[in-house]
Amino acid sequence: MKKKLGLLYGGKSAEHDVSLSTARAVTQALNFDKFDVFPIFITRDGEWRKGDQLTAPAESIEQLQIGKGTQDSIPNDVSSFLLNKDEKEFDVIFPLLHGTNGEDGTVQGLLEVLNLPYVGNGVLASSAGMDKVVMKQLFEHAGLKQVPYVYFIRKEWNKSQDALIAKMEEELTWPMFVKPANLGSSVGISKASNREELIKAIDLASKYDRKIIVETGIVAREVEMGVLGNDSPKVSVPGEIKPVTDFYDYDSKYNDNNTGLIIPAPVTTDVVERMKDMAIRAFKVLDCSGLVRADFFVTADDDIVINEVNTMPGFTPVSMYPILWQNTGVTYSDLIEQLIDLAIERHDEKQ
Ligand code: ATP
Ligand code: MG
Ligand code: MG
Ligand code: MG
Repeated sequence: MKKKLGLLYGGKSAEHDVSLSTARAVTQALNFDKFDVFPIFITRDGEWRKGDQLTAPAESIEQLQIGKGTQDSIPNDVSSFLLNKDEKEFDVIFPLLHGTNGEDGTVQGLLEVLNLPYVGNGVLASSAGMDKVVMKQLFEHAGLKQVPYVYFIRKEWNKSQDALIAKMEEELTWPMFVKPANLGSSVGISKASNREELIKAIDLASKYDRKIIVETGIVAREVEMGVLGNDSPKVSVPGEIKPVTDFYDYDSKYNDNNTGLIIPAPVTTDVVERMKDMAIRAFKVLDCSGLVRADFFVTADDDIVINEVNTMPGFTPVSMYPILWQNTGVTYSDLIEQLIDLAIERHDEKQ
């Protein structure tokens, strides 16, 4: 029997566009003998739309109108739409959403309430993983090594700028990385080498979030690992990123083909083993399920520092997470099917 798969994409997030290309790629990779695909498009304003194709199996990418959606919005009542018996119930939902309102536990919460199986992390892991401050606090608890950081709320910054700069200069070292606490794809992130740049960077980050985190900039190689599974997660080979820009910013992630990915990363087996252990500990302390991509810094003397995990990592066929699995022996299509199986397994276990 074919599975009815609801593909949630777009989203009210600064990472909306990234989700569009991901949805396109996943749809192309799906085996239509096994799945009926029902695309559900979320606009930048957060409006949910269905395409005509939602009531018919999608046979080709053209039918999916990726990124458009019809004007036929789903009025207020998302839940009855998702469960509408005329539309047929879904067997599983794939929330292909990055950033706020998608990767952060909000959509996951809706799907929990509706008792629908969904791919990827649950409410707790998604929300804890989205907030870089909460994530770091949990990592600290798990004994995972990290760069020093300071965080504050936008309001505090507006009120006591001098005191906060003094605190940062005391606790951190230059250059510093300034980030909105709740985002991804490097949106709103800048590197600051002096006070003037720091103020500019914080003003920029404040446009995206009310909570800001500032970290000591580390000189290190960037190595990432994929984790896949529920209670007994597997770890992929490591992959190294070689951005040609100053750091791995939005453009080098999505618009620049020069960023090099070296897979497997040329690191010692000892580094691989320690990184694997850290990736699993990070996965467990956030109570993850399905997938995460764990991002590390590896210094010249093989010290390993965890930067973050991403609970819905970039997922196009040229994104790091799927490529890591390809190099570990899991093809893109297999990966999608395994994630769907893991979603159903987790849902069944809860019943
Ligand atoms: P994504 O979710 O797409 O991985 P993100 O928006 O969550 O990205 P980070 O991964 O935290 O952001 O940072 C983006 C990039 O900025 C890193 O890949 C790295 O190149 C650089 N960077 C971030 N923090 C530091 C740091 N403390 N020291 C040195 N470089 C850093
Ligand atoms: Mg991230
Ligand atoms: Mg991310
Ligand atoms: Mg990252």
